[in-house]
Amino acid sequence: MTPLARTLDALLPQTQCTRCGYSACAPYAEAMATGEATHNLCEPGGSALLATLAQVLGQTALPPTHAEPQAHVAWIREIDCIGCARCLPACPVDAILGARRLSHTVIESDCTGCDLCLPACPVDCIELRPASAGWQPPSAQRNRQRFVAHQARLARRHWAVRPIRVQTAASDAQTASPTTEPDSGRATRRAAMIAAAQAAAAARRESR
Ligand code: SF4
Ligand code: SF4
Ligand code: SF4
Repeated sequence: MTPLARTLDALLPQTQCTRCGYSACAPYAEAMATGEATHNLCEPGGSALLATLAQVLGQTALPPTHAEPQAHVAWIREIDCIGCARCLPACPVDAILGARRLSHTVIESDCTGCDLCLPACPVDCIELRPASAGWQPPSAQRNRQRFVAHQARLARRHWAVRPIRVQTAASDAQTASPTTEPDSGRATRRAAMIAAAQAAAAARRESR
């Protein structure tokens, strides 16, 4: 990373939310440093960060591409959670607690509201809610530390590479393979697995 990219990266919120269209904060910082990306793409940073980035880059501040960030955090409807643990690798800052077959929960003080866990949940039991009164977003330093630890854990457990919000047509085409199971068969099998897991979760709840 060049010194300029490092300086820019140090200013970013480190939520690793991918809303800028890059896979994490550091690649966005590098893209700004080379002129590939504009300085107005980081939603969590809001207008204050936009102005600072423009100043560091010696550019005129561009109009923001997003509305000002809201104080939202993820919340899991534990009664509907089937304990599949799919949300764990999706959270870049490891703000979800839980183990397989048990209800999961979000650590509000560590949640950045990035919403990357929502599409990972097969039963849609995660939602974004306004943060509690007095909630403060986790610091960039804390987000970075937790992201580094998360990546190390992913590498150790061979979890799938975390999703990137923006996918190119080329990568979509690459993903589609003629040898994979047809979509309809996969969807049926997945629906059956989810139904079985939901039934098991309901049985566990009733037995408590
Ligand atoms: S939009 Fe998200 S991933 Fe991109 S620089 Fe901002 S905090 Fe980092
Ligand atoms: S719990 Fe969900 S919304 Fe909160 S930081 Fe993790 S992935 Fe983002
Ligand atoms: S992905 Fe959804 S159902 Fe699975 S453990 Fe997480 S919250 Fe529960």
